[in-house]
Amino acid sequence: MEKNSDTMEKVVSLCKRRGFVFQGSEIYGGLKGTWDFGPLGVALNNNIKREWWKMFVDGREDMYGLDAAILMNEKVWEASGHTGAGFCDPLVEDVETGERFRADHLLKEAGVDADGMTLEQINQEIKEKELKSPKGNSLSEARQFNLMFETQVGAQGDMKSYLRPETAQGIFVNFKNVVDSMAPKIPFGIAQIGKAFRNEIAPREFLFRVREFEQMEIEYFVKEEQWESEFEKLRQDIVKWHKHLGLSDENIREYEVPENDLAHYSKRTIDFEYNYPGKGFDELAGFAYRTDHDLKNHMDASGTTMEYIEPDGSRFVPHVLEPSFGVGRALTAVLCEAYTEDEMNGEVRTYLKLPKHLAPFRVAVSPLLKNKPELVEKAREVFKVLKTEFGNVAWDDNGNVGKRYRRQDEIGTPSCIVIDFETLGQEAPELADTVTVRNRDTGEQERVAIADLINYLR
Ligand code: ATP
Repeated sequence: MEKNSDTMEKVVSLCKRRGFVFQGSEIYGGLKGTWDFGPLGVALNNNIKREWWKMFVDGREDMYGLDAAILMNEKVWEASGHTGAGFCDPLVEDVETGERFRADHLLKEAGVDADGMTLEQINQEIKEKELKSPKGNSLSEARQFNLMFETQVGAQGDMKSYLRPETAQGIFVNFKNVVDSMAPKIPFGIAQIGKAFRNEIAPREFLFRVREFEQMEIEYFVKEEQWESEFEKLRQDIVKWHKHLGLSDENIREYEVPENDLAHYSKRTIDFEYNYPGKGFDELAGFAYRTDHDLKNHMDASGTTMEYIEPDGSRFVPHVLEPSFGVGRALTAVLCEAYTEDEMNGEVRTYLKLPKHLAPFRVAVSPLLKNKPELVEKAREVFKVLKTEFGNVAWDDNGNVGKRYRRQDEIGTPSCIVIDFETLGQEAPELADTVTVRNRDTGEQERVAIADLINYLR
């Protein structure tokens, strides 16, 4: 099935209709750049985060978890460079309507790559290209706009702080705590999942660019001479992660950021891009070698040593590899990849071909008829057993069985179980205590003994 901007629209509409994602503060007209996750969205989000944690933390011996505070001492953000020009986007205004845009995005649409350009260069390009706003009006001069949300801490508002724009700094400032408490052997990583906030100039494209989002980040600490070999190992782990999300090879691209576009402290950065329907390839996750820039900055600014001491007594400030993932972008990619339309029994059907480990519901259970107490009772028994085992099991007795299948298909439930008169042994004794299990992708049905269900579903 070919996917295009229609697909994206259908995914967004399915997300709302079926309880995955709602517009933030919707009943008050919304708040731009915020989205709320409904019951199925939370489930999918949690599954993505749990699988990530399993793969990158629990599945390894060299990774330590962390959950740092969102609010941090403002000195953190001075030391990291976020209060300065380093964390600004170039902003231009439509002089007629006052609408604001990112100058680099407008230039990109006009075929100019503004990455790494100074404000002067950007203004020069805008002039030369006679760039107009999307409404065709003139644009103001570009200026730097800092993306951090400022806030005050304390009843007197005595200290300025920020909602963190990335989880990474929480890891750097705890580097010494983790080393002192856990005595890790280098190379090792610290991983964290948490919210981040950026006052994006132009939030857009569903969950792709929002003002409040979740990140899954790792800072991996190495000796300088190890960086290239460890970079390659982690790169392969990221490739494996994207496969685990069910994203197909042809929809993932590794973009090697050219040397002249690299941040001044980075020696190598790869953007992992996904082919979002109707949008094309754009960033899904980032992977950067950041040298010893971050730890050195915090060491200088705080006066606390960030040196790692080897068993032989030698000391050094570790270098850092940073894989950084956005949960919302992963969820969008997973949904777009899974969205499928096909024909079944002469009807068009829509289904989400989600991997079993990500589907909001692992399985749905229903009685053939909901007005037959003996069927309902047996179905409840099966439901309870499966619910104890898997947790995310749906009870669905609305409408007829065909409708239930369509509904479960649309939210990606891999299997549907129906308890019928054969289960009760009323049709053929050999079918007693067996149920129908229907496969989401093929529509095929199998008879499975209740006693074997858990193994079968695993
Ligand atoms: P972009 O260039 O698209 O603005 P970035 O390079 O600023 O992204 P990073 O700072 O590297 O992004 O953040 C790491 C990851 O966090 C990104 O790969 C993305 O998945 C996610 N992310 C960053 N900003 C946003 C946002 N505004 N909305 C949703 N996800 C985001």
